[in-house]
Amino acid sequence: MKQFLTFLFFIFLFSACKSPIADLNQALSTITIEDVERQSKILGSDAFMGRKPCTEGEKITINYLEAEFKRIGLEPAANGSYFQEVSLMEITNTPDEKLQISGKDKSIEFDLLTDFAAFSMRAEAELELNKSEIVFVGYGIVAPEYNWNDYENVDVKGKTVVVLVNDPGLVNGNPEFFKGNAMTYYGRWTYKYEEAARQGAAACFIIHEDKGAGYGWGVVSNGNEAPRLFLADKNGYSDRCAIQAWLSQDAAKKLFAEAGLNSEIWKDAANPGFKAIPLNLSASMKMKNSWRIDKSNNVLGLLKGSSRADEVIIYSAHWDHFGIGRKVDGDSIYNGAVDNGTSLAWMLEIAEAFVALEQKPERSILFFAPTGEESGLIGATHYVQNPLFDLKKTVANINNDMMLPYGRMKDVMITGFGQSELDNYVSEIAPKYDRYVLPDPNPHTGMYFRADHFAFAKAGVPALFARGNCDSREHGKEWALKKEADWLANNYHKVTDEYETWWDLSGVTEDAKLFFEIGYKLSMESTFPEWNANSEFKHLR
Ligand SMILES: [Zn+2]
Repeated sequence: MKQFLTFLFFIFLFSACKSPIADLNQALSTITIEDVERQSKILGSDAFMGRKPCTEGEKITINYLEAEFKRIGLEPAANGSYFQEVSLMEITNTPDEKLQISGKDKSIEFDLLTDFAAFSMRAEAELELNKSEIVFVGYGIVAPEYNWNDYENVDVKGKTVVVLVNDPGLVNGNPEFFKGNAMTYYGRWTYKYEEAARQGAAACFIIHEDKGAGYGWGVVSNGNEAPRLFLADKNGYSDRCAIQAWLSQDAAKKLFAEAGLNSEIWKDAANPGFKAIPLNLSASMKMKNSWRIDKSNNVLGLLKGSSRADEVIIYSAHWDHFGIGRKVDGDSIYNGAVDNGTSLAWMLEIAEAFVALEQKPERSILFFAPTGEESGLIGATHYVQNPLFDLKKTVANINNDMMLPYGRMKDVMITGFGQSELDNYVSEIAPKYDRYVLPDPNPHTGMYFRADHFAFAKAGVPALFARGNCDSREHGKEWALKKEADWLANNYHKVTDEYETWWDLSGVTEDAKLFFEIGYKLSMESTFPEWNANSEFKHLR
């Protein structure tokens, strides 16, 4: 008996002293392709009804995630609950069919959906632009770090501003100037509307262009009749422009011709020293709105840090998708198996690995499944407005979205490469998996501003959005890019985003290991990664 006790004692001593590397390795071994497959299959199945916020599909999804967080051993993170309630506003805009442009002695009309698309976030039953003066404000950007102000010495209060999409760097190409080809946040349409509102404009029309926007006119005009979701605002967004709109290229050219100007002057807007130009025209239109408030939920599970529990690393993957919609070939469920089932599986596997560590991480790890990403990062935005940890002590956000099922990749594509020191963590750990860092090959589309990590970036928290995507270990680069293009054309936001038996989730599995290691490293450090000097988010931290 005594011998046996001694034996037990040594076993205890041995296991208590497991080296950090051995501990890390046994945690990594809990990340398996079988688990990733099982989770992706479940979360992408018809039983989840397309995971739409505020529906039966939401209940099923958030209850499943809660049960998984419990099974894994995460604590409820939101005051004793795994759920953080999020109020949503669903608003339907019904703009008049015509936009009237009046000059001194004549006027022209633009047609809804062909020439323009018009939206509003304002919870007001009726909105009207009544002969609102039109001013061309170039790119509509105020960027102190580039000594740039398109609104300098021009009063646009109550007026209608017309702005170009994207930013001057796309035209100029100089990487030091608005990051060249890569879109800065100043190029994103959400920024244009935000800045126009700060300047007091009544309406903001963005001139659409395929390359600068990153998508065609159809994407803009299609959205105009469906109800849209926003985070509920206690003032009903009365501080936003009444009308947030787009003009097609052709309509914009007509507008400038009406003002006696050539669209060639748009090029001038990319040059320093550009001054806003009043068009001596006015805009008139009306819009009716109806809206309702509904409730949805973020899901949050926590592993408390062992010594600096007030500092946190946040992993995120949105749970929502589009629910049940129009029937296409007999199927009406928008499963969102890739968007975002595989990333949820990725995050659950990372959570399991953290819990499996014998030496708990020094910093806390929060696992966050936001709602309402598809409608505009709603749950993530609500979280940063109501954070569970001080944002200044939030070390990093590591997000994923749309992890494709095409097997292992040699690259780790970083969307928003160059924004923060988090890139260095990827560079350091990627070679262990015989992988290399690849900056997003299409930075002009502004993908960095189009998924949940961006809500964190906007709140000053360094945020990483990265995954294997472009260089298949087995089939090479060309093949992987073709597969990605196929997926975007045939499955993205369609009923065919569904789990299939041919899926190869070995890449998602390897990404879970890699990003677990990155978070683990961050969790054991006492320093905070920073934004890089040329980042538009640097001044927020
Ligand atoms: Zn997504």
